[in-house]
Amino acid sequence: PLTTTDLIEEHRICVCVRKRPLNKKELSVKDLDVITIPSKDVVMVHEPKQKVDLTRYLENQTFRFDYAFDDSTTNEMVYRFTARPLVETIFDRGMATCFAYGQTGSGKTHTMGGDFSGKNQDCSKGIYALAARDVFLMLKKPNYKKLDLQVYATFFEIYSGKASIRFAESTSGQTSANAHSSRSHAVFQIIIRRKGKMHGKFSLIDLAGNERGADTSSADRQTRLEGAEINKSLLALKECIRALGRNKPHTPFRASKLTQVLRDSFIGENSRTCMIATISPGMASCENTLNTLRYANRVK
Ligand code: ADP
Ligand code: MG
Repeated sequence: PLTTTDLIEEHRICVCVRKRPLNKKELSVKDLDVITIPSKDVVMVHEPKQKVDLTRYLENQTFRFDYAFDDSTTNEMVYRFTARPLVETIFDRGMATCFAYGQTGSGKTHTMGGDFSGKNQDCSKGIYALAARDVFLMLKKPNYKKLDLQVYATFFEIYSGKASIRFAESTSGQTSANAHSSRSHAVFQIIIRRKGKMHGKFSLIDLAGNERGADTSSADRQTRLEGAEINKSLLALKECIRALGRNKPHTPFRASKLTQVLRDSFIGENSRTCMIATISPGMASCENTLNTLRYANRVK
């Protein structure tokens, strides 16, 4: 298993995968686990056998990432390897972004926002809250205390190519809130200012479900348009991250509202990005999981 000594200190772009456990619904229909994380940076998609023969490695689809988190990994641990190093970046006058990417139901909101399952309403262990906690701890350090920094936070969503503040959650129940969030990108930003100027900015993003990008042939016009918009923004995002990794002068951020909003985070010397690709373990999700892994694989 991963330990903190595995932390890679220096990388501009970090891409990792997080597998969630099979949930009650999947267990009740006897869906089977087709994902194995044989080491700290490898993900295997395989036949749903009870025991996986790891020596037959190459017969399976195998992907390598910076980190692969298995279904026993806590949010705190995921945070430690992904967003935590980026908190340093924004104190160092940098720009940071952390994305949760994946199919609806794969664990993006659980990772970023915390645990909202059943009676649980605990956002304290989500990456948003853990990052905010550490920002305030950093502010107390003597080095930073003397800089007289100010912290601002904003939360908005991008839906159908428009950015807007969402004041209230839907009151018509969790199902409808989930249906909405699967079609919008939620953006939480922590901004540090000094003497009225931007010092650093951390954007934490719970992306729209990537399966929505495939809705482009739906019979419903609205669904089709939303699908096309999501598809466009996720493709643009991939290209922008790749451009950042290759120090390319041209970053195609104009291609979507999401990348326009994050424009200043993709340019500049001191920009760092982390992508957490969340995957469901079940055979029923296999196709979406492979799409997620292929996308994440190409980001870097
Ligand atoms: P998404 O935001 O990608 O649509 P959610 O974060 O809402 O998915 O997760 C779907 C369900 O799975 C939720 O009930 C959530 O609590 C649960 N879940 C997700 N990831 C994990 C995990 N790592 N451990 C336990 N439960 C999880
Ligand atoms: Mg969600």
